Formats: sequence, structure tokens, C-alpha cells
Amino acid sequence: MLSNLATRDVETLIHPYTNLDAHRANGPLVLERGQGVHVYDTDGRPYIEGMAGLWCTALGYSNAELVEAAAAQMGRLPFSHLFSGRSHDPAIELAEVLKELMPIPTSKVFFTSSGSEANDTQVKLAWYYNNALGRRAKKKIIGRSRGYHGVTVATASLTGLQANHADWDLPLPGFLHTACPHHYRFAEAGESEEAFSARLADELEQMILREDPDTVAAFIAEPVMGAGGAIVPPRGYFQAIQTVLARYDVRFIADEVICGFGRLGTWFGSEALGMAPQTLSFAKAVTSGYVPLGGITVDEPLYAAMVDQSAKLGTFGHGTTYSGHPVACAVALKAIEIYRRDRIVEGAAEKAPHFQARLARLAEHDIVGEARGIGLIGGLEIVADKRTKAQYDPKAGVAARCVAFAQAEGLIVRFLTGDRVAVCPPLIIAPDEIDALFDRLTRALDRTR
Ligand code: PLP
Repeated sequence: MLSNLATRDVETLIHPYTNLDAHRANGPLVLERGQGVHVYDTDGRPYIEGMAGLWCTALGYSNAELVEAAAAQMGRLPFSHLFSGRSHDPAIELAEVLKELMPIPTSKVFFTSSGSEANDTQVKLAWYYNNALGRRAKKKIIGRSRGYHGVTVATASLTGLQANHADWDLPLPGFLHTACPHHYRFAEAGESEEAFSARLADELEQMILREDPDTVAAFIAEPVMGAGGAIVPPRGYFQAIQTVLARYDVRFIADEVICGFGRLGTWFGSEALGMAPQTLSFAKAVTSGYVPLGGITVDEPLYAAMVDQSAKLGTFGHGTTYSGHPVACAVALKAIEIYRRDRIVEGAAEKAPHFQARLARLAEHDIVGEARGIGLIGGLEIVADKRTKAQYDPKAGVAARCVAFAQAEGLIVRFLTGDRVAVCPPLIIAPDEIDALFDRLTRALDRTR
């Protein structure tokens, strides 16, 4: 029997990434408030928010300083835009702070309101850049199977997940996908991580050559794949990939939407994994998820091309009403101040060994084929047979059942397609809360088997 709010939800709302048929019977989990790493439903039941919302609430819930920063900016200048050269101090200050933090050479920062918009901007700029340089055929973009980059027409095309393509008439022409770097699933018997990385880099090179390097503009990758299954790349992967990209003058875009701002125990995932992209996209934890904000970095060659194009075309014809929204920028500035002052990123690195040790223990469970992670992110591969790595029939929805049992145990985690379960708690999680999280997840796995 659905509650009053749940019934009204079913009657009125369309939920993203939800089985809309099942939702009519099951109804929603209606949350009312949050505090620290906990969220509370309308019956007052607490849950450990083991997904930091959607990989974003790094500073947990009800952080008074973030609330105050938003309220103060709301009271002062609740809206302004950056069109036609207009500006405001939160956007200027945030761009300065971000430039300082970026792990790669950054000339300027461009703001969006989401990760999808950030990556959509990356696609458009990869095209725009090559047009500016007179390389009009160099337009194809390579993503990866199981990569996730958003839901706009272009970013769903970058994404390498079936649910984003099937019956959406995507990917668009000119978007290609190279292999997923998941050693457990795709390495050959006895193949080392390094050998697997070298093979994938070779496959990428063959793809670029087959397509013709003069038609390939960019390659995009998350440091750790999030929605694709919390997949940590094998040793040497990005080093091998980068060598290929440099050989064919293919721009490397790092999608730091999940890994940015401390998730891997470094400010950006690129630093943890030795990545040297030309540009990166960020969103989510830049405001700890409290208000929507995303963006991209622009390197000097790209910026120079953008200036030239503006001179030629009369304007830089891109941007949305909410690019650099002052409230979002004010909250991001406060969030970054807190990350720095409270050593949140260093704290994530210090807690990571405990988190990863508890995660690794789950690999002993008889339905867990692999428990993998880095920093404060982890993923489980649910299998029917540990020896053969055979999966359950997808229709059985085993990972979804595990997540439902976790919810009954007072823990929110997320199931991902291919029977994977992701864990990605707020970075402020305390060691005893890490233990409570994994105790509950273990009980959920016991009930699932
Ligand atoms: N890129 C990555 C790596 C993501 O995980 C996501 C969202 O989960 C996106 C891009 C899209 O971001 P948004 O949902 O804010 O559009």
C-alpha cells in the first residue's frame, strides 16, 4: 500500500533512470531530510547514503556553511549571467580558484550547470577547434564501451551503455567506442594488467588508423568508470592510451565529473592515475551537489582558437542562461574552501585503505566475483558462478535485489547494469560509518544469495 506522497508521485512524476513500469507498483523512496552521511525518509527512517546522492554530496547533508553561502548569495544577487561580457564576483573568484586547483595547464574555465552540458560543450569545442584550424574532417570522437558521459544527444552518443542507445536512435554518426578497460571481465586468461593495457591501446590505435587519423578529433574517458560499474583501469592503461593519442594528434578529454574533488584521494582522478588530458570536465562535488554546477577547462591553444573565431564570426556562440550562476558559484567557492580547510581530500586518502580493505573482504562472498575500487569508490561484480564468472540471467535482477535488501538494512547503494553494485559515500564518512556501511552491505548480499 503506497503512502499518500508515494501515490501522488506515481500519478505525476517521470523518474530518470527508472523502470517506469515497475515504479507504478513499487512507488518511490521519498526522502525528507539529510544530516551528515545519513538521509531520512518520510517515516523518519535513517539510511547511510552510500552513494553520496548520485556520486556528488561529498560533504554530506545539511552542511550549514554551504546553506549559508547559498542564502547569502540569494539575498545579494540571486541571478546574473555571463552573456555579452557581463560578469559577477562569484564566477570570477571561482574561475581563479579552479585554475589554481587544476592538475593540467588551464587558460580559462567555462561554466555549465551539469556534467552532460560540460561534456556536450567538450564535443562542440572539439569540432569548433578543428574548424578554426581548418581541419574540417577531424571530427570523430571516441568514447569507451561502458563509459558514461551524460544524456544529451551528443553525450549519450559518447556514452557506451546500451540503455542510452537502444531505441534512442543513438549514437549519432561520428561517435565511436573502444574497449572497456575491465581486466576482470575482458582480459584473456593469464594476461597481466600491463599486457591488457597494451592490447587496448593497440586496439585504439587500430581504430584510429582504420577511421583515418585526420578524421579523429578527441578521445574521452572517466578516470574510474562510474555508472559503467566503478571500473578501475588496469595498471599502465592511461599511459599506453596517451601515447597513441599523442601520435595522432587526438585531444584527450578527461571526464572528472565523478572523480573530481577528492573521490580517489587526490583532487582530481587524473592525478591518481597519471593522466595528462588537454581538458577536463567537472560537476557534482564541485558544489557537493547542493546546487547544479559543472564546467570545463580550456587550454591555451583552444582559447586562442576561440578568440580568433570570435573575431571572425562576431561572437563565441555557445552558453546557457545558467552558465556561471552566482548562487552555484558561491556554493562551489564555499565547498572548495571547506575541502581545503578541513583537509577533505587528504582525509579521503587517509580513510581509503580502511574502506578498500572492507570492500575487498566482500570478494569472499559467494555471489561476488570481484570487489574493486580506489579511494572512496568501489564496485561489486555479482556473479552466478565465481569460477567461470558467469552472470545471472539479467531478468533475475540480482543486483537490483541486493540494493533493495541494502535499503531494508538502512543503506543506499546503487545497482548498475550488468549486475554491478556501486558504493560511493560522502567523503566526510567516519571510519565507524564505513564499518556500518559494509556490515549492512554484507547482510544485503547474504539475503540476496
Ligand atoms: N560524466 C560522468 C562521469 C557522470 O557520472 C555523469 C553523471 O553521473 C555525467 C557525466 C553527467 O552529468 P549530469 O548528470 O550532471 O548531466
